[in-house]
Amino acid sequence: MDAQPQHQPQPQSQQPESEFSSFLSKMYKLSRIARSVDPTELMSFISKLDPEMIGKYMKAAKSHGKKAPPMIEGDFYSVSELLTPEERRYQLDVRMFMEKEVKPIADEFWMKAEFPHQLIPKIGAMGLGGLTYKGYGCLGQSTVLEGILAMEMARIDTSFSTFFGVQSGLAMGSIYLCGSEEQKQKYLPEMRDFKLLGAFGLTEPEVGSGAAGGLTTTCKKDGDSWILNGQKKWIGNATFSDFVIIWARNVEDDRVKGFIVPNNSHGFKTEKIENKLSLRIVQNALITMTDVRVQESNRLQNANSYRDTAAVLRMTRAGVAWQAVGCARGAYEVALKYAQDRKQFGKPIGGFQLIQDQLSQMLSSLTAMQTMCMRLSQLQDQDRIKDEHASLAKVFCTKSCKEIVSFARSIHGGNGILLENDVGRFLADAEALYSYEGTKEINSLIVGRAITGQSAFV
Ligand code: FAD
Repeated sequence: MDAQPQHQPQPQSQQPESEFSSFLSKMYKLSRIARSVDPTELMSFISKLDPEMIGKYMKAAKSHGKKAPPMIEGDFYSVSELLTPEERRYQLDVRMFMEKEVKPIADEFWMKAEFPHQLIPKIGAMGLGGLTYKGYGCLGQSTVLEGILAMEMARIDTSFSTFFGVQSGLAMGSIYLCGSEEQKQKYLPEMRDFKLLGAFGLTEPEVGSGAAGGLTTTCKKDGDSWILNGQKKWIGNATFSDFVIIWARNVEDDRVKGFIVPNNSHGFKTEKIENKLSLRIVQNALITMTDVRVQESNRLQNANSYRDTAAVLRMTRAGVAWQAVGCARGAYEVALKYAQDRKQFGKPIGGFQLIQDQLSQMLSSLTAMQTMCMRLSQLQDQDRIKDEHASLAKVFCTKSCKEIVSFARSIHGGNGILLENDVGRFLADAEALYSYEGTKEINSLIVGRAITGQSAFV
């Protein structure tokens, strides 16, 4: 409940309301609204709506007098208020993009297991690729904002946020952290606008969690070029990207090196992985390399061992935790709306104690996830993030996300298994978040090693 105002205007007399007291009463009403709504943000929000949307909001506002249910809001502790006004504008722009461009087609493309390529120029035009990188046309924004945007994307469609994360984080990040100055100048500006698309190839059919010491894909120096052989599995965006960053073990010294391998290289074959149950919009590839020749100029000049690969993963892992927040938040908000609307035994199911208990459990986990990720990103912005910090958030958020989407599905009853009710995609997509960029077990081992001083990796 709102706190009572300290200086509430009192009626001067029992006479009909004077112009002045009417003015005071209007100001008082405005000040009450301003306490829960930022008027500048409200105006900016309204100015971006089309007439149909404004009509819908007006209808909703009018029905407010008729004891409308409270607003659906998954940011219970107002984490977004920690953003600067500029960051809030980016958040709002991405939210609008996701609502307008992605939401209406997400189920259809999820069912078809296809990627909506028509969205690539549109997201590219927003210039958000490599958001936190300094120079090369990138915006040099905070990782806090980067996390919030990953959350906003996943809140509507976790596949789209994965597509974005592969390009902006894993592929651009490999070049930003491990490339020479010349390579950065060549690739990053076009990648920022999604005019050039990259992917990240680390995992292999037989080597997942054990990638640090076990890569079987090899590279061998041959004059002024390298010969690559081996397979990579699960490589997101690789069926349509322009190139893939391939991590391979040097047969000479056993160290891991990174290469920018164009998809049209001779001997480089990509096959789409079919029949996925999760993130169906993301196009994952099985890559087979047979004597692929790569110029020395395409070797990442500052990638000298697996430590450098791990640095890329460290930079992007917080983003996966934020994606889990988005996926969970989307599911929570949909479930809350359903609980308000769906009636059984003559009243909304949101009025039943057991449903309220589920909703408050969902909200408490969601709020813990949001605040944890916010602090994690603050640490990253201060250059104080360690592997175990990112791993702890990845474990907690992806595990909690699975619980939240499961509650959301349960609140929907039978309707929860129908895609059209907006909860099924979150339920399925949470599964992949749980496993990629380090499974729960592997990230727990990273935390365990840091807090006990004992490595339990075998
Ligand atoms: P495994 O390593 O075989 O693990 C199987 C099980 O054993 C897991 O539960 C694991 O936690 C457990 N386990 C393994 N070792 C230990 C241990 N020491 N102690 C305890 N438990 C252990 N990879 C890329 O390179 N690029 C991508 O773009 C990419 N995108 C992906 C997208 C999706 C949708 C998915 C599903 C995966 C993607 N991956 C990608 C691969 C992903 O990173 C791997 O799936 C992940 O690292 C786990 O490897 P694995 O699947 O081979 O499982």
